[in-house]
Amino acid sequence: MLADLHTHTTASDGKLAASELLSAASAAGVTLLAITDHDTVAAYSGLDTCRHANLNVVAGVEFSSWWERTGIHILGLNIDLASPAITAACRHQGQARDDRARAIGERLRKRGIGNAYEGAAAYAGGGAIGRPHFARHLVAVGAAVDPADAFRKFLGGRHEAGGFDHWAPLAAIIAWIRDAGGTAVLAHPAKYKLTNGRLNALLTAFRVAGGQGLEVISGQQTPDQTRHLSALARAHDLAASAGSDFHQSGLPWATLGKVAPLAADLRPVWDLW
Ligand code: AMP
Ligand code: MN
Ligand code: MN
Ligand code: MN
Repeated sequence: MLADLHTHTTASDGKLAASELLSAASAAGVTLLAITDHDTVAAYSGLDTCRHANLNVVAGVEFSSWWERTGIHILGLNIDLASPAITAACRHQGQARDDRARAIGERLRKRGIGNAYEGAAAYAGGGAIGRPHFARHLVAVGAAVDPADAFRKFLGGRHEAGGFDHWAPLAAIIAWIRDAGGTAVLAHPAKYKLTNGRLNALLTAFRVAGGQGLEVISGQQTPDQTRHLSALARAHDLAASAGSDFHQSGLPWATLGKVAPLAADLRPVWDLW
C-alpha cells in the first residue's frame, strides 16, 4: 500500500483540480489518498472518489491554527464531511482566511502595492485565498522576482505575525476534528522552526487537547529528520501519518506519492480507521 495523506487542489493553493489529482495519484501508484486543502473541503463536493479502482480516498482538511504565537497546521483526516462540526470549522476558518487576506492587502497597500487583495482573489479563482496567491500577484506586478522572494520580502516571517489571531486556536481545531469523527494530526512538525524543547511542549499540548497523530513523513526529508520525528511520535504516543504536501508538479521536495515508508513499530493513522 502507498498512502499519501496530505495533498492540495485548486480549492486552495494547489494547481490540479480534484479530479485531476485523483487521476495523477492513481497513476503514481497511491492506494490511500487524502485531499487536505487549506481550511476548506470544497474539493470533495461533487467529486467521484470511487472512479479509480485501486485508489481509496479518505476525507481530509488542513486547518491553520496557532499555539503560543507560533502558526501551526493541523490535518483532520477521515472526517465526516456531512458533520455539523466540519461545516462550523470551515465557516469559521473561511471567514478568518478572508479577514486575513484583507489585512494582508491593507498591509501591502501601505507598502505601495495596491489592489493586492483583488489580485490574489483572482488567482484563487473562487477557492480559499492564501499567501501563494498574493505571491503570484506580487511577482506579476514586479514587486518580487519569484514566489520565494515574495514570501521573503512580504509574506513570511514577521509579516505573517499579524495573521495568527484570525485562526481558531489549537484546542478548538482539534475539538472540531474529533467531533467530526476525524483524526487530528500535527502537520509537518519540522517546518515550525521550533527548538526541540518547544516542539516537545507543542506535542504535549497537542496530545492534551486530543490530538492523535504526528506527520512523521512530510515530503522529501532527510533520514535524520525522519528518525527524529519517529522518536517524537513514540515519546508522545502519537500515531504516525505520511504525506507529500503536494501542490503542483515540478516541485521535487513535494512529489505526489513520493512518501517514504513509516518505521515498522510506529502505529499508522490508518490503523485507527
Ligand atoms: P497560507 O495557507 O495562506 O498561510 O499559505 C501557506 C502556504 O504558502 C503553504 O501551504 C505553502 O503552500 C506556501 N508557502 C509557504 N512558505 C512558502 C515559501 N517560502 N515560498 C513559497 N510558498 C510558500
Ligand atoms: Mn499550501
Ligand atoms: Mn501546511
Ligand atoms: Mn499542506
